[in-house]
Amino acid sequence: MMDVSDLLESLKLTLPAPAHAASDAKWEGAQRLIYAATEEAYADVAFATAADVDSAVHRARHAFEHGIWRHMPASERCAIMQRAADAIVAHGEELAALHTLETGIPIGQARTMHVPRSAENIRFFAEHINSMAGESYDQTGRYLSIVTREPIGVGLLIAPWNAPLVLSSMKLAACIALGNSIIIKPSEYAPLSVLRLVELVHAAGVPKDVVQVVCGPGATIGQALVAHAGVDAVGFVGGTATGRRIMATAASTLKKVGLELGGKSANIVLNSADFERAVDGSLMGIFAGNGEQCLAGSRILVEADIADRFIDAFTARVGNLRVGDPFEAGTEIGPLAFAAHYDRLQAFANIARTDSQYRVLAGGGRAPGFDLGYYFAPTVVEAADNAGPLCQQEIFGPFVTIQRVANLDEALACANDSEFGLASYIWSDDLPSVMRARRELRAGTVWVNTPMARDLRAPFGGFKQSGIGRDGLPGSIELFTEEKTTMIPNDPLALPKLGTAKN
Ligand code: NDP
Repeated sequence: MMDVSDLLESLKLTLPAPAHAASDAKWEGAQRLIYAATEEAYADVAFATAADVDSAVHRARHAFEHGIWRHMPASERCAIMQRAADAIVAHGEELAALHTLETGIPIGQARTMHVPRSAENIRFFAEHINSMAGESYDQTGRYLSIVTREPIGVGLLIAPWNAPLVLSSMKLAACIALGNSIIIKPSEYAPLSVLRLVELVHAAGVPKDVVQVVCGPGATIGQALVAHAGVDAVGFVGGTATGRRIMATAASTLKKVGLELGGKSANIVLNSADFERAVDGSLMGIFAGNGEQCLAGSRILVEADIADRFIDAFTARVGNLRVGDPFEAGTEIGPLAFAAHYDRLQAFANIARTDSQYRVLAGGGRAPGFDLGYYFAPTVVEAADNAGPLCQQEIFGPFVTIQRVANLDEALACANDSEFGLASYIWSDDLPSVMRARRELRAGTVWVNTPMARDLRAPFGGFKQSGIGRDGLPGSIELFTEEKTTMIPNDPLALPKLGTAKN
């Protein structure tokens, strides 16, 4: 494997400000980025200060209140955003490389999924603003009531590290298309692709203060942004515990909050499924993006009479997954994103090996053949009981449990026996079973005979501890706009004349 300086050289990558090539001494006040495949430092990213937070919010507010962006005709805003999307496609190789460098997600997936999807996110919201409509009511006979949506002001996105381009482009696009300014606080582990994306958005013509990136640790800089009175709405994508803290902080200034949080999604495989498709889709559902996905199908619930066959076929394919250099085109699983995350997965693997309710069927620790790097072997564990930690806690890696269930009743009970409710998957060609599962699954999305898929027109988000609010068109409009009602009398009103009585 190439060492990281040769890799940067061969990719001809320029680090976007405020990142610099890693210096010899670790720099206080900066995040050191480590390449997950070789454990070498490659960049230091300067943290913002409290004064920078204040200044960013001030500039975002000023741009909103006095700048051109909000008042621009929708068609012009749309054209600029389309140019930004074109620039993302044109710089796709560079963005994909930064994404793989900072996340460890294989370059093939960055190129074919994350980059095109980011451009698509921007195009979708840009196009939508050209056809946005309001509502009007005339039923009282006396008034015409007109309901319009206005931009909320300054939006904030606090983003996670697992899919920095896709998740940032989605909120950025929704927020600015609607006429707002946005500040993005990327994860300290994955700021580079977001910084570069925003440079491209500026170059396309979006004013600098309309989109800003503020880097730094969540606990200080993120917290200060959420608490800031000049921020009107917070879109948070990240873990459930952090989401609770963000909601509590935002409460002190009563700002709108949208929370897209963790998941532990059930993947139900019934004996009525197309078996090959169910195996293919279940593999995709857990192992795409190194398994570091909120919507991963991390709990497979398989009907008992096909369980042995499914387990044999599934684990055989897991054994063939190509784990390796994330910059190799054929790699299917790269290293985990950072050391603490690798250690967390090792702790779950330790539980799998030592607790008698579990049986390790594949993996279960460091990927063989790798002495360096945060390489974790794709892991399959059979679980006897849904109550244990491996079936209840979000592991967020290439780690899946399989449980045998007697029938659809037990599958649904088990799927819903979770504090999370982000997504669920069902594999079956029996329509009544599918329809019943669709009704009874307590999750924001039900995928039928497909691995994860998104339609930006439709809401995406979680039941229970998986979130509040929804991503996608309606939820984004809800988060980033205020509704205004204007009432106009149809005819001049005969107003009561107060204060005219003779005493
Ligand atoms: P975290 O919750 O640890 O962090 C998310 C972001 O919050 C980071 O930018 C972090 O900053 C910041 N942050 C941390 N503490 C605070 C705070 N007190 N105030 C403000 N900001 C704070 O999540 P991860 O980055 O580890 O991401 C993984 C999680 O994200 C998983 O649970 C996953 O399920 C979830 N996720 C959900 C999605 C969904 O659509 N529902 C999509 C993708 C991921 P920093 O890292 O810089 O410290």
